[in-house]
Amino acid sequence: MITPNMNYAQLKDSYLFYNISQKINAYMQKHPDARLYKMGIGDVSLPLCDAVIKALHEAVDDQAKKDTFHGYMPECGAPFLRETIASHYLKRNVTLSPDEVFVSSGASDELGDILDLFDKKNSALVIEPAYPAYVDANIIAGRKIYHLPSSQKDNFTPKPDESIDADIIYICSPNNPTGAVFSKAQLKEWVDYANEKGSVILFDAAYEAFIEDDNLPHSIFEIDGAKTCAIEICSLSKTAGFTGTRLGYTVIPKALVRNGMSFNSMWVRNRTTKTNGVSYIIQKGAAAVFTDEGQKQIHKNIGIYKQNAKIFMECFDKLGIWYCGGKNAPYIWIKCPDNMGSWEFFDYLLNEIQVIGTPGEGFGKCGEGYFRFSTFSSPEDTAQAAERIYNLLKSK
Ligand code: PLP
Repeated sequence: MITPNMNYAQLKDSYLFYNISQKINAYMQKHPDARLYKMGIGDVSLPLCDAVIKALHEAVDDQAKKDTFHGYMPECGAPFLRETIASHYLKRNVTLSPDEVFVSSGASDELGDILDLFDKKNSALVIEPAYPAYVDANIIAGRKIYHLPSSQKDNFTPKPDESIDADIIYICSPNNPTGAVFSKAQLKEWVDYANEKGSVILFDAAYEAFIEDDNLPHSIFEIDGAKTCAIEICSLSKTAGFTGTRLGYTVIPKALVRNGMSFNSMWVRNRTTKTNGVSYIIQKGAAAVFTDEGQKQIHKNIGIYKQNAKIFMECFDKLGIWYCGGKNAPYIWIKCPDNMGSWEFFDYLLNEIQVIGTPGEGFGKCGEGYFRFSTFSSPEDTAQAAERIYNLLKSK
């Protein structure tokens, strides 16, 4: 009889969003006419920009004509898109060869699939609070997981712990859920640690486009030494509203070699075995993101989310509430007032002012006592939510 992967039995229920929806449903049953202000969502709300829509339409028309029709695409990505992305990195002084860039159908898929490159005996280190997929993917693979807590003391950007010998290291910067961003000096410490231990950093850069401070790194490859110890996973989901369109990219430098094995070559082998490439139409749409027009338009949309962030930040500044994030990320991570627990604060906001956010405890134990607000809602709802929060908490 077949033996299922029993590691699935070790997974905790993904209770965070389930619990939230249960609480909302219960509230709505009691108050069917209530208007909710949803400030917890991780999905974007603005549509694709014009440059992308135009490219998608043109690509659809290409598929209608014999001369321009495309069948299977190259498994690792269309050369036009790999070249475009490599040129985009060059703007940050990161030199990549196009075959170090792999096109994917999104960061989530890639964060799971990339673990094929590592032995099951390798351990994984997850800096918490964290995007839940890192822990779950490694539980499914049966790996030992080190949970490295971060805190207000280190501004949620902890240093490596020399006493831990971790093989796979997850760093998400700008971070979901905290919005914290690692500086170049902080990343350099992680790069040195990884090179010294022979580990590999999986750098999740899904929110890099939200960075506005010039001195903060968008890519781990802006750090000396990263090409021998890091893989970068990126996505157009939040950068350009591709959550429903699906496109991401992964950078695996050729210099990343362990035990004589090149991770770049292994990934080529993996992709050619396990995928048949991303749709031509979507790759054409993605290439439009990197044109001058596309960049202008996506940054206009990001600017709208940033304006939402400003409204929240002003509210928390006035209330004297500690927070991080917001400036270089679409998330704001606050310390719950009056030492309230994360879920206690959730209930308080829902019951008193119908504002919904995400309890920090859902991202790891050290998130208890903190709360995440997202800036992806409409400007109108964000302004309403911030006003309600201010009026509720000003007398506290
Ligand atoms: N990484 C982080 C940190 C995220 O927050 C998300 C989505 O919310 C993803 C990856 C997944 O992105 P994608 O839509 O490309 O799968």
